Amino acid sequence: MIDTQTLPDNVLTTQLKKLVNWSRRSSLWPMPFATACCGIELMATAASRFDLARFGSEAMRFSPRQSDLMIVAGRVTIKMMPVLQHIYQQMTEPKWVISMGACASTGGVFDTYATIQGIDQFMPVDVYVPGCPPRPETLIEAIMTIQRTIDKDGLPTTNRRPLQLAVEPSYHPAPQPAGVALTVSGKPI
Ligand code: SF4
Repeated sequence: MIDTQTLPDNVLTTQLKKLVNWSRRSSLWPMPFATACCGIELMATAASRFDLARFGSEAMRFSPRQSDLMIVAGRVTIKMMPVLQHIYQQMTEPKWVISMGACASTGGVFDTYATIQGIDQFMPVDVYVPGCPPRPETLIEAIMTIQRTIDKDGLPTTNRRPLQLAVEPSYHPAPQPAGVALTVSGKPI
């Protein structure tokens, strides 16, 4: 792949950088590492109501070599962490990490010796998503945060520092356009 970061700026190369950044930000492919209840919200985010495909991130890859966005959803134990680190190391560069939910970011209510009290002690985290569990819209906001960063700063170099941004707990997501109407025998319930 062309390393656009090292190209000198001129009309041709700046447009090439824009094109590469646009294609990269529009195809963040998640590597789901869902261990607990937050994983259900992650699944809901990719399903029809919230439709993560609108942001180009619906292609969950279960091979780290085809992923560039790790989403850690749920608590991580000490025994799991070497596996998580191994998967992270196998992912393609440039790569991003979202820590979804209180358990992944802080250990949550599981203040025990076996639970990692924040995955950022062992791996870089770019965006923290608050909540127990976070709503799908909040996870989408985290993905959009990474997209905005790529738009603004371009692709990171391989030895970049983690962004360590956090979606504000007071964040009010925009209502989704899809309404849900449940009916039984044609009558709304
Ligand atoms: S943050 Fe809450 S919802 Fe998410 S894994 Fe922990 S206990 Fe479950």
